[in-house]
Amino acid sequence: MKKICLEMPVVTKCTANECSYNVNSDCHARAITIGDSLKPGCDTFIEGSRHISQSQQTAGIGACKTAICKFNEDLECMAESIQVGKLRNEVNCMTFALR
Ligand code: SF4
Ligand code: SF4
Repeated sequence: MKKICLEMPVVTKCTANECSYNVNSDCHARAITIGDSLKPGCDTFIEGSRHISQSQQTAGIGACKTAICKFNEDLECMAESIQVGKLRNEVNCMTFALR
C-alpha cells in the first residue's frame, strides 16, 4: 500500500459508542467525512460489528461538506480538532459553529 502524509484535523472524542469505528469514545477510522450542506452529521457512522484492528489509529477529518460552518474552507475542515457526539438521535460534529 502506498502511504501519504497529510496534515488534517483530528477527532479527539466521539460519544457515539454504537458506531463500529468507536473504541472507548475514540474514533479509529482512518479519516471521516462530515456533513451535507445543512447539517454536520458524521457520514462515516456505521452501527454494527467492531472495527478494532486499528485501535491505535486516531481519525482525521478527510472532508466536510458543511460549508456554513465557520471552520470550513473550500469544503475542508480547518479547525485544530473536532469532537463528535449525539444530538437529538443524530451523530453530529459538536465543533460546528455557524459562520
Ligand atoms: S466520529 Fe463518526 S465514524 Fe468515528 S466513531 Fe464517531 S460516529 Fe463513528
Ligand atoms: S468543525 Fe465545522 S468544518 Fe470542521 S468538521 Fe465540524 S462542521 Fe465541518
